Amino acid sequence: MPVPKRRQSTTRRDKRRTHFKLVAATVMACPSCGEAKQPHRVCPNCGFYRKRKVIVPKEA
Ligand SMILES: [Zn+2]
Repeated sequence: MPVPKRRQSTTRRDKRRTHFKLVAATVMACPSCGEAKQPHRVCPNCGFYRKRKVIVPKEA
């Protein structure tokens, strides 16, 4: 099994990690209840997806 010959330098490791970042989730208004929700996901507030009730939302 191939194994690295030498340890990567801290600079090289840290340069690779510059691409590891968090991105803010996109939010849109739910077309059925108007609450903020993520696109392409079931609305956590009303439980609708594509104008159809798919889940029973949890009580707050
Ligand atoms: Zn909704």
